[in-house]
Amino acid sequence: MKTTRVEVTETFLPRHLSDHDRCDRCGSQAYVQVSLPTGQLLFCAHDYQEFEARLRPIATAVLDERDRLHAISSPGSAYPSTAP
Ligand SMILES: [Zn+2]
Repeated sequence: MKTTRVEVTETFLPRHLSDHDRCDRCGSQAYVQVSLPTGQLLFCAHDYQEFEARLRPIATAVLDERDRLHAISSPGSAYPSTAP
């Protein structure tokens, strides 16, 4: 059984996920923050992909920063925006 611990700061506005934000499931760097009526969950890209279909209908807000993955993983050759 999983306990969800939510740290409530004064006025928490979802803005930007940092390196310190970790996936609640596996501990990898989080790229998606899901706000639920019961609190917030952080997911890495992999785990969010797995749960997206179930979370979307109940989420009150989703902060999806998975596009940062492409920018980070390939700094020299950016994700191709134009097909060759
Ligand atoms: Zn994960």
